[in-house]
Amino acid sequence: MSSEKPIVLVTGGAGYIGSHAVLALQKAGYEVVVFDNLVYGHRDIVESVLKVELIEGDTNDRELLDRLFASRSFSAVMHFAAYAYVGESVSHPDKYYRNNVTGTLTLLEAMVAAGIKNFVFSSTCATYGVPKIVPIPEDHPQDPINPYGATKLMVERILSDFDQAYDFKSVVFRYFNAAGADPEGRLGEDHQPETHLIPLVLMAALGHRDSISIFGTDYPTPDGTCVRDYIHVTDLAEAHVLGLDYLLKGGDSQQFNLGNGNGFSVREVIEAARKVTGRSIKAIECDRRPGDPPALVGSAGKARSTLGWNPQYADIEKILTHAWVWHQKRHA
Ligand code: UDP
Repeated sequence: MSSEKPIVLVTGGAGYIGSHAVLALQKAGYEVVVFDNLVYGHRDIVESVLKVELIEGDTNDRELLDRLFASRSFSAVMHFAAYAYVGESVSHPDKYYRNNVTGTLTLLEAMVAAGIKNFVFSSTCATYGVPKIVPIPEDHPQDPINPYGATKLMVERILSDFDQAYDFKSVVFRYFNAAGADPEGRLGEDHQPETHLIPLVLMAALGHRDSISIFGTDYPTPDGTCVRDYIHVTDLAEAHVLGLDYLLKGGDSQQFNLGNGNGFSVREVIEAARKVTGRSIKAIECDRRPGDPPALVGSAGKARSTLGWNPQYADIEKILTHAWVWHQKRHA
């Protein structure tokens, strides 16, 4: 069946940020096809919440991509599919280079062959490494300290070279700490295994964990714990739609930070979670986790001025409230 709506392929659309982007794209009037290998993504979310076509496949599968791109006319690809566990990237770098770099290169080659030249890419503040200036601007040197960040930086380089060679246009978003859940409670964060602070704090609030560990209390920060810039996943999703609109109107390739420009320490997040949930959450002070920079806060003025991005949920209690609604429902 043909459709008048522009069609967007969302790789990793069964995952946390990708699924929220699918909702935002649908709201903005785009037709969406999800491409996901379901290693970490959730089939039930695509089938029962997003209700879009799901192509189960791997970005390294060139034949499948060629067939897909020949089957209909995609206006753009939004590429969320990637492995994103920093620790695992250190212990299994091959897995990360194969999926995040080779898989993305295969996808890009298939796009160029099919004449699809608009690409929105999930990058990360991990490409900056240990910041020399905070808040971090987009032109900060990129010097990742783990293979995960290195894979994302390699793709950024590939995109810049593809633009030169093939007039291939991309919007690169460097996320700070994605957090929260769909304000209507339809979607949220559900990683297996879970390593992120906010879902783990909420699992402790639910009683599914005894406590939350605070990784390091001797950092050079106001309360000794790490400071991060938590950005609501729905605000992230909205930025992707604006980035896509920008490309489809003929915008040049650009890179944007997506953060709030406000940092919260681990202790502040735990305290805010106690307030939002009304539960006592036991916190245990532990050693530092290797590879954690003391403070990561982004300057996102460029996304605001160029794309007109206007985050709606910058408040940490709002982010936690939405996440709490989702976690109670998902892990009841
Ligand atoms: N963190 C923590 N306890 C946990 C998980 C995370 O203290 O159980 C800290 C972590 O050291 C970091 C911050 O919380 O400083 C955010 O970590 P997360 O894994 O959520 O995101 P990251 O900043 O690593 O992308």
